[in-house]
Amino acid sequence: MFHKRLYCGIAIYLLLSLSLCAQKVSVGLFFDVPVKAAAFAVQSGSYAIIVNDTLLVAAINRGASMQLSHGSSGLRLRISGENMGVFSSVKAVGMGDEGLFSLTCTNPLLPTRSYAQHAFIRSAADGSGMLIVNQLDERFYLSGVVEAEAGCAARLEFFKTQSILSRTYLYAHFNRHAGDGFNLCDGVHCQAYKGLLTRCRRIRTAVDETEGTIVIDEQKRPITPSFHANCGGQTCHSENVWREKLPYLRSVKDDFCRQQPGARWQKRIALSEWRDYMARNGIRVKDVKMLEFAQPSRKKYYEAGGKKVELTKIRQRFGLRSTFFDVRVAGGDVVLTGKGYGHGVGMCQEGAMQMAERGLTCKVILKRYYKNTSVINFNQALSTPAMRQDSMLFLFNPWRNETPDTTTFIDDDTSPDSNALQLQGGKE
Ligand SMILES: [Zn+2]
Ligand SMILES: [Zn+2]
Repeated sequence: MFHKRLYCGIAIYLLLSLSLCAQKVSVGLFFDVPVKAAAFAVQSGSYAIIVNDTLLVAAINRGASMQLSHGSSGLRLRISGENMGVFSSVKAVGMGDEGLFSLTCTNPLLPTRSYAQHAFIRSAADGSGMLIVNQLDERFYLSGVVEAEAGCAARLEFFKTQSILSRTYLYAHFNRHAGDGFNLCDGVHCQAYKGLLTRCRRIRTAVDETEGTIVIDEQKRPITPSFHANCGGQTCHSENVWREKLPYLRSVKDDFCRQQPGARWQKRIALSEWRDYMARNGIRVKDVKMLEFAQPSRKKYYEAGGKKVELTKIRQRFGLRSTFFDVRVAGGDVVLTGKGYGHGVGMCQEGAMQMAERGLTCKVILKRYYKNTSVINFNQALSTPAMRQDSMLFLFNPWRNETPDTTTFIDDDTSPDSNALQLQGGKE
């Protein structure tokens, strides 16, 4: 009994100490997969295993593992093969707010991934399997997102632009999964996150050097940070792809990406298939040559025979790399000659990579692709009187409910400079 109380005390201490550390993000892993069984293995550091929220059942080190399986009565926990019982929740808390672990979903079987810091596991709300949440520092999360979305082979300034965009998304969508018990999921519904991957050092540096930096629009709201692989020489207006017209997602010319891998593509489609599809969409022509079409600059519609069809619809139907293509009739086929890869809205990644190669800074790159926006340091902005009065920006502070010291000083109008230092100090 004494031991149990002592263990409870240690467990509560560990959990409380988490809330005092750097700003944390909770990510729902494999959110759309009903995970029935998973294996957790310590790769570095030591982990406290806490069940039912308060009871410490073990401390495990590098090389040790735990196995979890989901049943109607809860989570069955085994530690290095030994049965520990069935619990409503299991937390693996990295001691000293550190640690690295691997996670393998064994039912269904998915590739093993590595994650930093902590894992919290309980039954999913719908009872279909486990909910696995990785709680970790913002900087580790952003490093994982940048690598998942941009790979590891680019200049530092490019990774800084991608870090700023991922942080902008994080701050604007911090409560997207509040009802599910975490902040963001790890799929493309939010931002792709596959754990720490190869832990590319340049990405870590980019995330650290841009700490707190985001992009805001003229209303001082975080922007929708859309990006794509290659624009083919011209980006798209947002309303040509989605319904919403956003003042900063405007079409811009881009010479930087034209020689890059995603710049050109070609596809042949049977003429009969193309003609039948167009006929179903109201385009009927007497002469098949009338199906030919050119886009010297980006258009919203494919036009033939005086009728038109949205290019996004055609792209989806035929699985095309982009909507930026010309159409030519050649024998029994139509030949589509296209430019770019992706939806074309916002930043062109291959263009941005080339701008970074030529020595341009992340701010220059961002301002080129996102019109009439500002690149600001969110933490410093909130420490100036003008910005503090701006409820809109404050509204998007993901940490406002979790760092009481920050909230207090935001209401205090005196000496913003020393407060700025306080806030920065408080983050680390
Ligand atoms: Zn999501
Ligand atoms: Zn481009």
